[in-house]
Amino acid sequence: MSYEAVIGLEIHAQLLTATKIFCGCSTAFGAPPNAHTCPVCVGLPGALPVLNRTAVDLAVTAAVALGCDVHERSVFARKNYFYPDLPKGYQISQYEQPLATGGGLQLPGEAGSVGEKFVRLTRIHMEEDAGKSLHEGFADSDRKTYLDYNRSGVPLVEIVSEPDMRSAEEAAVFFETLRQILVWLRVNDGNMDEGSLRCDANVSVRRRGETKLGTKTEVKNVNSFRYLEKAIQYEIGRHIDVLEHGGRIVQETRLFDAAQGKTYSMRSKEEAHDYRYFPEPDLPPLVITDERRRTIVDALPELPEQRRRRFIEQYALPPYDAALLTQTRGVADYFEATAQQSGNPKAASNWVMGEVLRSMKERGIEIEAVPIAPAALAGLIAIVEKGTISSTVAKDVFATMYDSGRAAADIVAADGLAQISDSSSLEPIVHKIVRAHPEILEEIRAGKDRKFQFLVGQVMKETKGKGDPKLVTELLKAAIGT
Ligand SMILES: [Zn+2]
Repeated sequence: MSYEAVIGLEIHAQLLTATKIFCGCSTAFGAPPNAHTCPVCVGLPGALPVLNRTAVDLAVTAAVALGCDVHERSVFARKNYFYPDLPKGYQISQYEQPLATGGGLQLPGEAGSVGEKFVRLTRIHMEEDAGKSLHEGFADSDRKTYLDYNRSGVPLVEIVSEPDMRSAEEAAVFFETLRQILVWLRVNDGNMDEGSLRCDANVSVRRRGETKLGTKTEVKNVNSFRYLEKAIQYEIGRHIDVLEHGGRIVQETRLFDAAQGKTYSMRSKEEAHDYRYFPEPDLPPLVITDERRRTIVDALPELPEQRRRRFIEQYALPPYDAALLTQTRGVADYFEATAQQSGNPKAASNWVMGEVLRSMKERGIEIEAVPIAPAALAGLIAIVEKGTISSTVAKDVFATMYDSGRAAADIVAADGLAQISDSSSLEPIVHKIVRAHPEILEEIRAGKDRKFQFLVGQVMKETKGKGDPKLVTELLKAAIGT
């Protein structure tokens, strides 16, 4: 019997604000525990929340970029539950009237084998994050829990998808594509290790052809694409196994154990909270005027998918290049500036995809930290184009530019790297090499054409890579008489 998986995702993304959602405390990661706290974010009685305007703008930015309907009026609500990392006894979220509904995300056809697909969104709402509990010790006698409220009150958007995905891979591609857009919009920093982007997955299975949804389970707080894919794959397999053995799926929340590659039960529906939502009395309804929404729409940057398509059209780039160059907005900007300043988009693309991205990977840096500006790289491209230096020498020049900050033309002039492209300088070297290898000459004359490349290599070696390869080939042919 064949089954179909049905998957929906809920993604929590921290909004890139300097301060928290309802107070002026810093959102910076990595401060000593409880350094960034005040009466509002540790929930002292009588402290009143004041909504962060930038957080709202960022949430609206994400919503309009994802094609959602941003509601003129949305309402903050109290989600009541007790947990030590939630000192107020409730989380301020949005419930019945969220910031935005509808919209969706186009999955790129090139990513994996999933093909192009549109995944609808249910809603986007704003909420505050909770604090963090840190546990220590295992035996009852020395077990301790520490509480850090630095994260308490950090602004989040929760992005909820419709159950439109049908495989673990599709879900991973959705999460990846959404992350790319949020980072591109500078709404979120995409840092999953620090928890500023996390994902919950709702998974169920049903027999193929069935339209009714099966009982779902929720896998909480997965913080990598690979783990998400593995966790969902495991859940799908577990559901099918239970059903095939005549069992029934229990609706519950589960956690993924990455080391074991398995999910385990955290709490069942019977233990689930009744959140007793009600409108937050300390905050007025959130009003997004049409004017404010339009200002945000007007300021939206060109999105990765649009830019990818434009790179293919405008610069005649292969789709592979265009996809790689639009991974981040910084790289796309860098490539485009280099392409325009050099007037040679294909060369710009090769340099960025090759040396520039490699240097970033090696050093673990972002494009903004690459010390060669697009104009400087365009200068190097121009020198290669003119034939002043070979592409092999150009890579060394690039490395020198990287370390010294000097311009390509200066390095070539100062270090005498210009390509040797006059016959009078190359001819003596060619003759010397030919004289030194009579046996190779014999072989070439006997029809072993492959040996010719050996001689080219010897001449290039003698010129320290500066010989013009085309001219070297011509002169060698003339010298051998082939
Ligand atoms: Zn605070």
